[in-house]
Amino acid sequence: MNELTYNIPLHLLSAYRRERLVVRTDEPAALVAALEPEDPERVAGVQIVSLAADSEPLNAWAPGLPLELILRDPVAEFPLLYRHTNLLDNHPMRVIIPVAPGFGKAVKAAVSLDFAVRLDVGQPEPALIEEMAVVLEFYLHQSTVAQPVEYFHGALQGFFHGEPTPLWVLQDDDPQYLRYVTDEGVEQPSRRLVDLNANIALDADLGEWIARALAAEEECQGCEFLNSCGGYFKWPRRDYDCAGVKRLFGDLRDAAAELRRDLDAGST
Ligand code: SF4
Repeated sequence: MNELTYNIPLHLLSAYRRERLVVRTDEPAALVAALEPEDPERVAGVQIVSLAADSEPLNAWAPGLPLELILRDPVAEFPLLYRHTNLLDNHPMRVIIPVAPGFGKAVKAAVSLDFAVRLDVGQPEPALIEEMAVVLEFYLHQSTVAQPVEYFHGALQGFFHGEPTPLWVLQDDDPQYLRYVTDEGVEQPSRRLVDLNANIALDADLGEWIARALAAEEECQGCEFLNSCGGYFKWPRRDYDCAGVKRLFGDLRDAAAELRRDLDAGST
């Protein structure tokens, strides 16, 4: 059985010494110094929250440990990705890029440097949907893209195999297994569920979360992409217009069908 993983800021490490952790910090050297010998076994990953940080202390530390670089301002910060490429030698690496104006430049830079990517997507307005469509096109059709760009990659695989995975899982926001602890020490069931006020047991499984709380609204229950989305885009604002994100899900579904047709044609 999976155990809960707590995403905590480094300064709360002493309060969470018994839990499985993802630790976020802008001081990698301080993280290495703060951990006790038995701690690394409980650290499932590290998030570096400032690209200006010196990540060198993590290069040879705990090889194999997944590391994530978090961009705040994708246009201003993507040139700093070059500083962290040495980490690729010893760690599975992923760059988290907020879907904000101009974010496509950061995606292209990250994948060209061989980083995997996860898009940190909120509730994108129409102009951002158009930018996402361009990035999706790039991801689907550029033969040079060797690394996954989530959530596009996981959703495409879900459509292709007929086994959709809700975005709560693909986006590391699954309230069944994750807890997000704010810098102020407030525990949330997920990073996204900041104002959750639902009558549901915290240890409920994700299907129950989706049916009873996350996608309980009529629009989600009747949505053709419910199994791939899980109501993700209705948080935090429940009145968000999903027309644009449904279009992107449709593009992913079409791409999966095309891929299936190409594979079937190639095998006959
Ligand atoms: S796309 Fe929108 S309506 Fe459909 S399941 Fe997701 S949040 Fe609900």
